[in-house]
Amino acid sequence: MRTHASLVAQFFQQRQDFGFTELPLDGITRIETLRALDSLLPSSSGATQVDAKLPLAAVASAPAKPAPVTSAMGVPSPQGDLPVLPESLEGLREVCSGCVRCGLAEGRTHVVFADGAPDARLMVVGEAPGAHEDETGLPFVGRAGMLLDLLLQTIDLSRKESVYICNVIKCRPPGNRNPDREEIASCSPYLKKQIALVKPEIILAVGTFSGQLLTGREEPLGQLRNGKHSYEGVPVVVTYHPAALLRNPGWIRPTWDDLQRVAGMLRGENRGVA
Ligand code: URA
Repeated sequence: MRTHASLVAQFFQQRQDFGFTELPLDGITRIETLRALDSLLPSSSGATQVDAKLPLAAVASAPAKPAPVTSAMGVPSPQGDLPVLPESLEGLREVCSGCVRCGLAEGRTHVVFADGAPDARLMVVGEAPGAHEDETGLPFVGRAGMLLDLLLQTIDLSRKESVYICNVIKCRPPGNRNPDREEIASCSPYLKKQIALVKPEIILAVGTFSGQLLTGREEPLGQLRNGKHSYEGVPVVVTYHPAALLRNPGWIRPTWDDLQRVAGMLRGENRGVA
């Protein structure tokens, strides 16, 4: 007898076969979707790996070529230097909440600082808040976030207990446009400080934007995924953005492979950094 999960998996597969690019999650519980993802993985190994062309206006500050760079966020701020930032995450959250260093402050409902465990071994870094995140003040709470949670569950991690989640940009760019250079320059000191305070063992950069910023490299995501990178000594794994996975379910398998690499690294395997 066919299980519900295998029917859901078959449904996803058929949608993909028919060329639908949306992965509908509404109306399906997390656990059903997780099971469905699980059922999909072995059969989708032939998925092509195409670069997720997520918006990226701003990493022009990165060095031109593949030299390993450990400090990719040293962009001079248009607003002058920040005052010394607090040495606690709560203090930093407070400073961030009152930030007016760029124009994004005007249109925001909430600053989206972070979610998850402050002592996490893994830090996930996305791009910028969307509408749901702006509304709630929490990162990755829309459909992409739900998928991110599911993927983290496949390696027994959760934002509640073991992952710290934040974005490069803390305020929603209007209409979800790409953040510009100045906005990134204004905001990146906060991310830098978050990394210094959380001291994650591994950073998972999701999407081109975060991947390029944290590695200081300009290659497309498909190439970044395969490299060994680090940010200030912390190994950085680059993978697809969950929003890109919703559009291209064929990228779920390679993302799952990247997560297996993260899980291995958390077990102490292949920790060598660039
Ligand atoms: N996409 C991101 O990169 N970050 C979020 O918080 C939500 C969607």
